[in-house]
Amino acid sequence: MKILKVQTLRGPNYWSIRRPKLVVMRLDLEDLADKPSNVIPGFYEGLTEALPSLVEHFCSPGCRGGFLSRVREGTMMGHIVEHVALELQELAGMVVGFGRTRETADLGTYQVVFEYQDEQAGRYAARAAVRLCQSIIETGHYPQEELAQDLQDLRSLQAEASLGPSTETLIKEAEARGIPWVQLSARAMIQFGYGVHQKRIQATLSNRTGILAVELASDKEGTKQILREAGVPVPRGTVIGYLDELEGAIADVGGYPIVIKPLDGNHGRGITINIMSWEQAEAAYDAAKEVSREVIVERFYQGRDHRVLVINGKVVAVAERVPAHVVGDGSSTIKALIDQTNEDPLRGEGHENVLTKLEVDRTTWQLLEQQGYDLETVLPEGEIFYLRATANLSTGGIAVDRTDDMHPENIWLAQRVAKIIGLDIAGIDVVTPDISRPLREVDGVIVEVNAAPGFRMHVSPSRGIPRNVAEPVLSMLFPPGAPSRVPIIALTGTNGKTTTTRLTAHIFKQTGQVVGYTTTDGTYIGDYLVEPGDNTGPQSAQLILQDPTVEVAVLESARGGILRSGLAFTACDVGVVLNVAADHLGLGDINSIEQMAQVKGVVAETVIPGGYVVLNADDPLVAAMADRVKGQIAYFSMNPDSPLIRSHTQQGGLAAVYENGYLSILKGDWTLRIEQAVNVPLTLAGRAPFMIANALAASLAAFAQGVRIEDIREALMTFQASTEQTPGRMNLVNLGRYHALVDYAHNAHSYEALGGFVKNWPGERIGVVGGPGDRRDEDFVTLGKLSAQMFDRIIIKEDDDTRGRPRGDAASLITEGIVQVKPDARYETILDEVTAIHTALDAASLNGLVVILPESVTRAISLINARRPEEKPSPSP
Ligand code: ATP
Ligand code: ATP
Ligand code: MG
Ligand code: MG
Repeated sequence: MKILKVQTLRGPNYWSIRRPKLVVMRLDLEDLADKPSNVIPGFYEGLTEALPSLVEHFCSPGCRGGFLSRVREGTMMGHIVEHVALELQELAGMVVGFGRTRETADLGTYQVVFEYQDEQAGRYAARAAVRLCQSIIETGHYPQEELAQDLQDLRSLQAEASLGPSTETLIKEAEARGIPWVQLSARAMIQFGYGVHQKRIQATLSNRTGILAVELASDKEGTKQILREAGVPVPRGTVIGYLDELEGAIADVGGYPIVIKPLDGNHGRGITINIMSWEQAEAAYDAAKEVSREVIVERFYQGRDHRVLVINGKVVAVAERVPAHVVGDGSSTIKALIDQTNEDPLRGEGHENVLTKLEVDRTTWQLLEQQGYDLETVLPEGEIFYLRATANLSTGGIAVDRTDDMHPENIWLAQRVAKIIGLDIAGIDVVTPDISRPLREVDGVIVEVNAAPGFRMHVSPSRGIPRNVAEPVLSMLFPPGAPSRVPIIALTGTNGKTTTTRLTAHIFKQTGQVVGYTTTDGTYIGDYLVEPGDNTGPQSAQLILQDPTVEVAVLESARGGILRSGLAFTACDVGVVLNVAADHLGLGDINSIEQMAQVKGVVAETVIPGGYVVLNADDPLVAAMADRVKGQIAYFSMNPDSPLIRSHTQQGGLAAVYENGYLSILKGDWTLRIEQAVNVPLTLAGRAPFMIANALAASLAAFAQGVRIEDIREALMTFQASTEQTPGRMNLVNLGRYHALVDYAHNAHSYEALGGFVKNWPGERIGVVGGPGDRRDEDFVTLGKLSAQMFDRIIIKEDDDTRGRPRGDAASLITEGIVQVKPDARYETILDEVTAIHTALDAASLNGLVVILPESVTRAISLINARRPEEKPSPSP
């Protein structure tokens, strides 16, 4: 077996709409190509021994043990690798389920597709599964140690990718609300929502958290001061910078017991509490000094440690935090008790798990010493030994939910404190013997206010009720009724995507909104180019969806991106499928036009139930997509009498048709005329039928999304198929004696479409033809045949980049096609594109038409422009 390629999909894709996270592995079975599992001696036994839990895989038999019975009876290794990859991930604690395996057109090579939770872990599982199967084939076994190592690697890959408990709870809540999210590469920020409606968080800072409030909260002395002045109980204390001030400070706060802590510190670093003597005070001073230049000296308040979480002005959770500790059993040493505690699977390193492992540090040694203990001391039964003075979860503390115990006055006070500091998300540290009584009565104090408080202790307390504290955060960022998404109009098809995308964007611009759009020529926002390039994949779509100025997204979504990584969005408002024709076949394991229709259908199937799927009624493969979609259907057609359009509108459906020279919307029984084709420049005064079809699709998409007819009309009349606005798409240039037409047509379907225009040209027609080298041989022959039908004279050229084909090969295939149709055709081969174009332009006759289908549109346009009779661009007739 050999892995040829491993891809990871991240959005709706060819294999599944609902399961965007898939690994697609191209696997060459090599010598196993003709060996199903039942003819490999010992394989079934070895597999069940290595992974007995595979019995839970139902597979096609649909019952427990289903998959294993397939293995016993004989199934291909690709299929087994799929199930093993899934099971390895499951055993490592990741929830995955979906898998598919298909043989490709290359004999013995399979596409093995399976779900992942974490991308790196998924890719690892692919390789590990192949390794496991290979080992069983060769030796009958897979060593237990190997398996254990695989599972450990998978777990740590997943842990590495983890975003932290607070962020993950927020993401989970967003997902539950259908709010899209994406992790930004910068600073691991998370974006919720799209475009102009997006909101951001970083840990538990939100885009509404003010910098003044954060700075105030991290200045402990400033915080205490502003709270004290507001009448909030805070510890009595003072700030010093030198050791010789320490004695006076202790007297100031009323003597021992005291607390010494760094002025700006966090996570309990450098803090010593319950200081009872001058020696302890000196040591504590040094410890605090290591963290901060200035040091706080405070009265020590007896009590328990609480964290009160206030979000958007409301107390949403209260946790009591108990410092890291062990409880004696009368026979174990303190060290043994620590080790026992750390065996709890809930304890992990840092914030990776619900609790953090206990660690012995400087404070622990001090606390041991104070009590005359060491790690080998056997702790009496029931005695508690605290390893830390402070209760931070990150140093091994535990949390107990106390939300329902807090006294109303304390709730009022905490809410007021959050407002005074100015934090939208605040963690208030309260030390009090009894949270159910007002602080004032029991000498409780507010020790500190934290910006970006951790959610872990509230979401997964060690005891008590877990609180969904992410809910109020999301409700604050997206109050009821507030949008989180911008409308997404996604367009696909074999031909006309870029043109239709540009036109659709132009229509939406009439509404005054900022339109972000992606095309083969580049990514645009409003009137400006953001990034040139073939930007029809998910990355460019992400750029638009992440842009905070974008109000509407219009996304050309090409086959390449869908196959490579899936769509960038899980749902769109309008999905347009223009056509499906034979192009790009044989690439990316898509070999038939039906399979290609399934690729393009992904866009249609991603449309939300209330949205619209705009389908070409004249293309049977496209029209058939109506059966599989969740959205409402809107058809466009060049034929107003099409039975499909008829029955659809009779049932009240929405459509767009070309009727009596007009582009019109049909809404139930009503006809809404947009404009006459002759007034729509893109259609070359109505002479380019496929451009009318594109304009219908764009108009229908916009109308379905609520754009007014007047705006659509204005857009159609002002959108030029000029070399500037849509370079390479039916650019007709008047050169005085004759016309030149530059077009991107490079497959049979677009040649035919172009033919619809060329055939009606009154003068002599010269074609400069060719095609991209990576297409199939038969595609070139077809291009030749179509050229012979369209042109009076043909010049065959080749692309500079032959995409791996020997030079001259494509040209001779095209020639073959030409002579098959018209043995007496006038043709010649000039491989160099520039020479071919010049030759054709030189040969043009009066009122003739030179049609150029170039590799480089910009080069062709500049060659033509050089021949313009006058400087100003001439309008198309
Ligand atoms: P964190 O990052 O966990 O909030 P920190 O380093 O910012 O910790 P503080 O919150 O000021 O430090 O103190 C940590 C803990 O020490 C408090 O939660 C409290 O338990 C205890 N503590 C601090 N000051 C006092 C005090 N004056 N009296 C009693 N306990 C105190
Ligand atoms: P690409 O796959 O290169 O991105 P595209 O789908 O974006 O192509 P356009 O760039 O808009 O398509 O148009 C390319 C060519 O396809 C046009 O120049 C024209 O020849 C042809 N074409 C455009 N629209 C249609 C259509 N509706 N039907 C058939 N051919 C079309
Ligand atoms: Mg604190
Ligand atoms: Mg395009």
